[in-house]
Amino acid sequence: WSLHLYDSIDSTNAQALRLLQIVPPPFLVLAEAQSAGRGRRGRSWVSPFGQNLYCSLAIKVQGGASQLSGMSLVVGLAVMQVLHQVGISQAGVKWPNDVYVDGRKIAGILLELTGDPADVCHVIIGIGINVNMIEAAGIDQLWTSVKEHAGMVDRNELLLTLAATLRQNLERHAQVGFAAMKGEWESNHVWQGLKCTLSTGSQDCSGTVLGVDDQGGLRMMIDGGVRSFSGGELSLRLD
Ligand code: ATP
Repeated sequence: WSLHLYDSIDSTNAQALRLLQIVPPPFLVLAEAQSAGRGRRGRSWVSPFGQNLYCSLAIKVQGGASQLSGMSLVVGLAVMQVLHQVGISQAGVKWPNDVYVDGRKIAGILLELTGDPADVCHVIIGIGINVNMIEAAGIDQLWTSVKEHAGMVDRNELLLTLAATLRQNLERHAQVGFAAMKGEWESNHVWQGLKCTLSTGSQDCSGTVLGVDDQGGLRMMIDGGVRSFSGGELSLRLD
C-alpha cells in the first residue's frame, strides 16, 4: 500500500476518493486531524488533532457484488481483533460495522464505493479509532478510547497492527467469503440475542437479534418470523 499522510484534511475518505483519480489502489490515507470527518448518513466523526487514528484504505474489487457482501462486517471484526490484541478483551462488534467496549463506541467505520458494484469497483474503507482521546465535545452518544482501557498506546504500532489484521481479513474475505467468518462475528456481536429496533429510514422493526446471514445481512426474529435485512441505510438500536 502506498501511504499518503496529512496533518489535517477534511476527511480521509474524501481525500481517498480524490486520490483515486491519480493514484492506483491499493493505498492508505492517514491524517492527524479531520475537519469534516464523516459517519454514515451524513453524520460526522469528531476528529481532534494528534490523539486518534483516522485512515482510509482504497482498494480495487473485482468479481461483483459477492466480493462486497459482508465486507463492512469483516472490517469491523479486524478493528475488534486489534483491540483484543492490545488487551481490550471486552471489545465487540455491533451490526453492521460498529465497534463497542462496554456499551460505548470506540471506533467508526465507513465504506464508500465508486464504480460498478456488479463488475469492477473501488471501495474506500474509512476507519476512525479513538486512541488517546479522553475529552471531546460534540459526540452525542456514549464513547470511549483505547487509553481508558489499555493505557497510553503508540499510534504507529496500533496502525501497523491494524494494517496487518485488515489485510489478512480482506484477503480471507476475498478468498472464502463472509460465510466462513460468520461464526466468529456472531460470537462477538454485542447485541446477539437481545431485543432491538432496526430503523430502515421509513419504518422501525422491533424484534430479537438472531445473528447474520452468509452475506452479512442482519437476521431478526420479528412477530414469530425470521427476517433478513441488508443495505447501507439501516441502523440498529438496543431496546
Ligand atoms: P449506526 O451506524 O448503527 O447508525 P451511529 O449512529 O453510531 O450508528 P455512525 O455513522 O457509525 O453512526 O457514526 C457517527 C456517530 O458516531 C455520530 O453521530 C456520533 O454520535 C458518534 N461519534 C462521532 N464522533 C465520534 C468519536 N470520535 N467517537 C465515538 N463516537 C463518535
